[in-house]
Amino acid sequence: MNFEFTDEQKLFADQVRRFAVAALEKGALKRAHESGFPFDVAKLMSAQGLMGITLAQADGGQGGTLMDAVIAIEQIAAVCPRSADVVQFGNFGPIRTFAEYGTGAQKARWLPDLLAGRMVLSLGMTEPDAGSAVTDLTTSARPDGSSFLVNGTKVFSTFSPDAAIFLIYVRYGPGLGGIGSLIVERGTPGFSIGQPSSFMSGEQWCELHFENCSVPAGNVLLGPGGFKKQMASFNVERLGNSARALALGRYAYNTARAYATTREQFGRPLCEFQGLQWKFAEMAIKLESAQLLLYRAAVNADRGLPSAYETALAKAACNQTGFEVANDSIQVMGAFGYSRETLVEYCMRRTRGWMIAGGSIEILKNRIAEHVFDRRFDQRKRHADAAE
Ligand SMILES: Cc1cc2nc3c(=O)[nH]c(=O)nc-3n(C[C@H](O)[C@H](O)[C@H](O)COP(=O)(O)OP(=O)(O)OC[C@H]3O[C@@H](n4cnc5c(N)ncnc54)[C@H](O)[C@@H]3O)c2cc1C
Repeated sequence: MNFEFTDEQKLFADQVRRFAVAALEKGALKRAHESGFPFDVAKLMSAQGLMGITLAQADGGQGGTLMDAVIAIEQIAAVCPRSADVVQFGNFGPIRTFAEYGTGAQKARWLPDLLAGRMVLSLGMTEPDAGSAVTDLTTSARPDGSSFLVNGTKVFSTFSPDAAIFLIYVRYGPGLGGIGSLIVERGTPGFSIGQPSSFMSGEQWCELHFENCSVPAGNVLLGPGGFKKQMASFNVERLGNSARALALGRYAYNTARAYATTREQFGRPLCEFQGLQWKFAEMAIKLESAQLLLYRAAVNADRGLPSAYETALAKAACNQTGFEVANDSIQVMGAFGYSRETLVEYCMRRTRGWMIAGGSIEILKNRIAEHVFDRRFDQRKRHADAAE
């Protein structure tokens, strides 16, 4: 067992950090308060080889590992927290599911623009009545000649105000086995996009409505029975979410640490008060332990798909740590930490959302408990007759 980066990983981390300092440090504060997808950053990252790190070279990717992509998020977020969203998009998000299961024709049509930072893809999974219970989704796809007629509503989709294409989870038939997904292009007749609403983080999302929206059969990503495959590759998205949460917590911690060495009260720097020293010690314990869980899940997955259990441990730990550390960092910095002069308050607001998104902490703990007891706990209400 070796807890050190390899020489190649050290070199890669150093290259990414130098790129981030040169291209992204200026404007980091302003960028965090802009709601749209930062296409300018995506184009810069594409030129730098930071989009598609884990995708096969045949697909226009870099053929790297998940751990490389985690390193990229850490190094970018340490300089510009908001730009880490682009690393997430280009390496961990629905693009990864798309590259995993898309046909040659689908990939040839959309991957070049996605990887070049010219186009963004949004994931439509959640519905008004299907959040954590995602398998309750009702958006339907009914065969209609050489097309499918899609009907239903999706909510909370990240990047939906800017996306040109949408990866939509649909129901082809009843039950778990009836779920799959397809790609819908913005502008398709029958597909309407509502007015943007804002999350606490400042990110925006739009309701997506499908009313007899005719989608060509060639846009089917996964047919009936595709749900398990989708969830397996969704664990990659969860690791990106974990890496960002931890990196933003660390960003806040580093800012607070520097502040505590220079800000003086009662004639002494803040870092000399034991009450704050213990806060920093606790933050360090949380950051270091969550990082080990994240690295283990990423390294064990290598180029494949991560284990659901290791991902659940990593995401729950990183989400909780990212938020708690960012929150404590605000406390250490007093009113300055609570103001928009630094990105510490942004890190707190942003990490809060990841405790809900992409598998809430509670749902992850359910998954972990199943591993602990080596049995499945059905979360569904039992029907009265079955319960008797
Ligand atoms: C920042 C952000 C970005 C998002 N991006 C996307 C996106 O791109 N695409 C997309 O489709 N969706 C997206 N979502 C939606 C996200 O997937 C859902 O919010 C999530 O699945 C939870 O669903 P819900 O909000 O409806 O909460 P609910 O499912 O209604 O849950 C409410 C609360 O009850 C808890 N709970 C529910 N069931 C159980 C249980 N069995 N045991 C214990 N506790 C339980 C939950 O953990 C939560 O705390 C995003 C959400 C956020 C916050």
